[in-house]
Amino acid sequence: MHDNPVYDGLGVPTVVNAAGTKTRIGGSRMRSAAVKAMVEAAKDFVRLSDLQAAASERIADVTGAEAGYVTNGAAGGLLLATAACIAGGDPAVMARLPDTGDRPNEIVMPRTHRTGYDHALRTAGAEIVDIGTNDRALGTGARDVERWEYRSAFGADTAAVAHVYKAYQGPPLQEVCELAHEQGLPVIVDAAAEVPPADNLAWFTEQGADVVVFSGGKGIRGPQTTGMLAGRADLVESVALQHLDMHAADAVWDPPAPLIDSGAIDGVPRQGIGRPLKVGREEIVGLLAALEAFLDEDEEALTTSWHRRIERIADDLEAVRGLSTAIHDADRSVAPVAEISVDAEAAGIDAVGVVRRLRREDPRVFVGADAVSEGTFTINPMCLTDEEATYVSDRIEAVVDGDR
Ligand SMILES: *Cc1c(COP(=O)(O)O)cnc(C)c1O
Repeated sequence: MHDNPVYDGLGVPTVVNAAGTKTRIGGSRMRSAAVKAMVEAAKDFVRLSDLQAAASERIADVTGAEAGYVTNGAAGGLLLATAACIAGGDPAVMARLPDTGDRPNEIVMPRTHRTGYDHALRTAGAEIVDIGTNDRALGTGARDVERWEYRSAFGADTAAVAHVYKAYQGPPLQEVCELAHEQGLPVIVDAAAEVPPADNLAWFTEQGADVVVFSGGKGIRGPQTTGMLAGRADLVESVALQHLDMHAADAVWDPPAPLIDSGAIDGVPRQGIGRPLKVGREEIVGLLAALEAFLDEDEEALTTSWHRRIERIADDLEAVRGLSTAIHDADRSVAPVAEISVDAEAAGIDAVGVVRRLRREDPRVFVGADAVSEGTFTINPMCLTDEEATYVSDRIEAVVDGDR
């Protein structure tokens, strides 16, 4: 299927990705404009702070935020955003993190927004205070979190509010921002996987978010290790101070305004908590090039191609004995997905068996397996070519038929 000298030379099987933009199998296919920009960037030196200042302007343009920054993934962006909300412009606190001392370090968020990515917030020194209940998921109530639960959680130790945005999950972001702003608290939004649509680049800032993070390696299709942060200028300045390499001699320290106002700081900060999350010049320009290409893309044509691809796969698989298919519109992900149910008796193999076999092939075939123990798997068209889509349905059919 794939002839790839790099992976072949290492003896590593490639993956046909029918699972969507999953980091563990490589995220997305980088746009060629991004690859080209990275190659050019590698040829010359540039001051990283100058490059981040230019990126800041461009990210501000497309998001409507005051400033922007290229981070090490959306997860790296969450860590930096948290560090900025805790340390503000104080170099002594920056130097001490993740030890927050007597600085406010609590981050309030709904219990239903807790994910494994919380680790990024806690790594910066935050303590998460989660509020509300899981009633809606369990069918025991209609709401996850009430306004009074935010208000009663806010106190002298609160540093920020965090919100993991999903269109199908409340509470309304604008309402959360109003509640937080009443107390002068910033709101950090995790919108890692929320583009496309391109309109979402500005939407979170419009709702009142103070910092928003997006993944650069998902729908934007930039370098895998990149993310994009958009937010208030003072918070982005704190991010830059805690991320950029800082062992400059005071006398020649001359960071670019408006990204960093050196006059407002008493001396040069040290390398901050963000230093292990290095972003190279290649990644910065790669992300910016991918962002331009993403904005130029014909969104309607892209969506139509996803629909066509997923319908074709569903048609092919519907004809396989033991399999039934349903197409779910883009409600839980940015693309429509086909859900395949496996009738283990008729198929002669259960869903777990199908998924495991596909993953052991060469090339490996990855389908979505979040509900595999309930007898279903999913196919996401975002990271498939048309040729790969045909290959995926052929392999599924072969695995099922071969076992009967
Ligand atoms: C993917 C994802 C992240 C992490 O994004 P990276 O760019 O891989 O660091 C964080 N939060 C959510 C909700 C995500 O889907």
